[in-house]
Amino acid sequence: MYDAIIAGLGPAGSTAAYTLATKGWKVLGIDKARFPRYKSCGGCISTKIERILDFDIKETLEETAFGATFTYKTGRAMDILSDRPVGYNVMRDVFDNHLLNKAKEAGAEVIEGLRIRGVAEGGGFVTVFCDGGQEFRAKFLIGSDGASGVVGREYFGLDPKEAAISITAEVPYGPAGKTVQNRLFIDFGSIPFGYGWIFPKKDCLSVGIAGDAAKVGGRVKDYFNEFVSTHETLKGLKIDHRDGWTVPVFYSGAATPVRGRVILAGDTGHLVDPFLGEGIYYAIRTAKAASVAIDTALKAGDADLSAYKEWLEKEVYAEFRAAEKLSDLVYNHPRLWYSIIEKDHEIMQRYYNVIRGEEAVDSFYNWAYNKVKSKPWKVLRRWLESRFMPA
Ligand SMILES: Cc1cc2nc3c(=O)[nH]c(=O)nc-3n(C[C@H](O)[C@H](O)[C@H](O)COP(=O)(O)OP(=O)(O)OC[C@H]3O[C@@H](n4cnc5c(N)ncnc54)[C@H](O)[C@@H]3O)c2cc1C
Repeated sequence: MYDAIIAGLGPAGSTAAYTLATKGWKVLGIDKARFPRYKSCGGCISTKIERILDFDIKETLEETAFGATFTYKTGRAMDILSDRPVGYNVMRDVFDNHLLNKAKEAGAEVIEGLRIRGVAEGGGFVTVFCDGGQEFRAKFLIGSDGASGVVGREYFGLDPKEAAISITAEVPYGPAGKTVQNRLFIDFGSIPFGYGWIFPKKDCLSVGIAGDAAKVGGRVKDYFNEFVSTHETLKGLKIDHRDGWTVPVFYSGAATPVRGRVILAGDTGHLVDPFLGEGIYYAIRTAKAASVAIDTALKAGDADLSAYKEWLEKEVYAEFRAAEKLSDLVYNHPRLWYSIIEKDHEIMQRYYNVIRGEEAVDSFYNWAYNKVKSKPWKVLRRWLESRFMPA
C-alpha cells in the first residue's frame, strides 16, 4: 500500500512525485513510456516558472526568448522584442527527464514502460490496474497521464474533444544558421481559433500549428503545410517527420478536479491556458497544489481534498476564464487583432508582463480594451463596443 500513486510522469506527475516524496510519503509513479521520451510540444516555458520551481532547471534550457517576430498569415512580419526574457525554450525529452530524475532522487519509486488501464476506489484506497494484470494500491491517486491518458477521460468523464488539435515538427537549422535565436515566431490567422509557431532550440526549430478542434475540422494538415511552405524562416528547410497531438485546453465542464481519493493535475484535468495553449507551467503548479492537498489529508488521516478545488477556482480557473475572453477577441478576429498590435506594440509589450506573471490576464484585458477604445480608430471602437464589455 502506497501513500500516493502518480499516474503518468510528465511535468505534472514528476512534480507531484517529487513533492510528496520530499515530504516523506511512500510514492509510486507509473508511466507507459521509458524516459527520456519525446513529447510533441513547442517547449516554450514562460519565465513565471521561476516563481514556482523548487530546483534549478538551467541545464535543460536551450534558448531564452526576449519577445517575438509576429506575422499575419506568414506575412506582414514585425518584431516586438523586449530587454527582459519572456520564455525559456526546452526540448521535452531532456526537460521531462530532468524532472523525473529529481523525483527519483527525492525517493519516489518509479515504474517506466507500464500502461495504466483503469482505476477504481473502494475500502479507503484506490486500485490502479495496469497491463499484464498488475495492480497497485494507494491511499490517494494523482491523475497526471495527460491528454491521451485514462484517468481524466474514463474515471472523470472529461471530454477529449474539448481541445486544440495540432501538428508539430522538429526541423534542423538550415543554411540560415542560428540567426533566428533569442526570439519566438508567432503567426496569427493561419489556422482557425489558434496560431502557428516556430520556437528555436539549440539544434533545431520546433515548428507547429494548433487550433480549436471543432473549428479546424479535418484540415489541420492543410493548415500546417501552408504555414511551413510560406513562412520566411522555414524557407529551404526540410521537414521529414510530423506529429499530431491534442492540447486539452480548459473548458468549464472540466472544473471537477477531485473525485473521492483521486485528484487531477496538468493536462489530465484540462489545466491548460486556453489562449496560449501553455500547459507546462500549469502542470507543475497544479501538481504542487494537488500534492499539498494530499499531504494535508494524509496528515489529518482523512480524504478531504476540497482545498485543491477551492485553490484552483481562485488561482487558476479565474485566470483561464479571462484567457477565454482574450481568445474570443483575438482568434475570432485575427486580422483585426493583428492590425491593432501593428499600430500599437505596447499592447504586446504589456502582454509579455502577463506571460512573466507580473500582471493578471483580466487586468491586461481591461487595460487593452480601454486603450483601444480611447484611440481614434473609429471602426475598431465601434466593433469593440458592439462585441466586448470590460471584464
Ligand atoms: C503541439 C503542442 C504544443 C505545445 N506547446 C507548449 C508550449 O510551448 N509551452 C507549454 O507550456 N505547453 C505547451 N503544450 C502543452 C504541454 O505539452 C502540456 O500542457 C504538458 O505536457 C502537460 O504536462 P502533463 O505532465 O500534464 O502531461 P504530459 O506531459 O502529457 O505527460 C503525461 C504522461 O503520462 C503518460 N501516460 C499517458 N497515458 C498513460 C497510461 N495509460 N499509463 C501510464 N502512463 C501514461 C505519458 O507517457 C506521459 O509521460 C503543447 C502541447 C502540444 C500538444
